Amino acid sequence: MKTYYLAVISLFILCACDATPDNTAETASPTAKKYQHAILSFGTVIDVTVLSTDEALAQQAFNTLDEDFEYWHRVWNPWLNGPLARVNSLIPTKAAFSLPLHLIPLIRQSQDYYQQSEGLFNPAIGQLINLWRFHEHEKDNKQPPDKQQIDALVAANPSMQNLQLNNIQLQSDNESVQLNFGAFAKGFAIQRSIQTLKKLGIEQAVINAGGDLKVLGQHIDRAWRIGIRHPRDKQTVIASVEASNEESVFTSGDYERYFIFNNTRYNHILDPRTGYSANLSQSVTVIDNDAGLADAAATALFVAGPEHWHRIAQKMGIKFVMLVAANGDIHMNPAMAQRIQLNSQGASVTISEKL
Ligand code: ADP
Ligand code: MG
Repeated sequence: MKTYYLAVISLFILCACDATPDNTAETASPTAKKYQHAILSFGTVIDVTVLSTDEALAQQAFNTLDEDFEYWHRVWNPWLNGPLARVNSLIPTKAAFSLPLHLIPLIRQSQDYYQQSEGLFNPAIGQLINLWRFHEHEKDNKQPPDKQQIDALVAANPSMQNLQLNNIQLQSDNESVQLNFGAFAKGFAIQRSIQTLKKLGIEQAVINAGGDLKVLGQHIDRAWRIGIRHPRDKQTVIASVEASNEESVFTSGDYERYFIFNNTRYNHILDPRTGYSANLSQSVTVIDNDAGLADAAATALFVAGPEHWHRIAQKMGIKFVMLVAANGDIHMNPAMAQRIQLNSQGASVTISEKL
């Protein structure tokens, strides 16, 4: 089951990061070559592509990213017995305690995105996430948790605003807060990794985590071409878009972690207002220069759905959005419409001027 899951992701990476018609061309300029490396982290394959004239530099970059991702995976994982688990065990005491430094920017940024998204992006709902157990891979025999338990956790109202951050001291005034950065940490790590590649002197690269990616520079002499997966057909690309310089393209969807129970589909993105899976969208794609913001926003807009995504995108400062609604209708803003090539015959497409 797990092997199958990874194989599907690997297949998709091929079309996600480089769907240029002539991707047989391995040479970036007379001497620059394409180097590729896969890292298993954050529960997925992180595929790193570097174009460089210097093979040793590419290898050095891969080694550095191997170490960084291993570290981030360990320290930001709520289920390993590491620093985030320690923080989560101290939060319910409601006393102030010292944070490890690597968690401070994650918490700070998350508090901003929590507010801008009207609480739809809410990494404080760790208890609800644990209750649903989407992180456990098996799909069979899954059913929603007990409604009373869900309702109790929603009523406890854990929010990022319950946390006071004072230098390195954290204190919660709500004992139900448990942090889970599953909707944000991967983007945040990819953002940092591209900065690392730049510092090493690399000018052209892509870091692609199963279709969530950030580019650096150009692919040879033109933009990188990105395929966006059809949410209901994993073999098909619903749209493609060009990205260059430091753009990130992030998609949140209901197709990677989900189960079906009594003909209802339950996916891993939860609506913090109900405690149940957000069910208004099939997928949301966001483009932004900041991969952490793109990751958080894709999750928030997925929850917001076709009626409210414009307002949340505007508050989060997002300029490019495509949302596939639960009924398959496609929604986007004019700026996205101008740059995206749709590959979906017959779908209803609404271009909203509200963003
Ligand atoms: P992926 O990581 O598959 O690209 P997302 O970025 O949308 O998907 O993150 C989904 C993960 O974030 C879930 O598996 C869960 O751990 C966590 N999560 C679920 N709902 C929310 C939410 N409303 N706000 C913040 N985090 C969430
Ligand atoms: Mg996300």
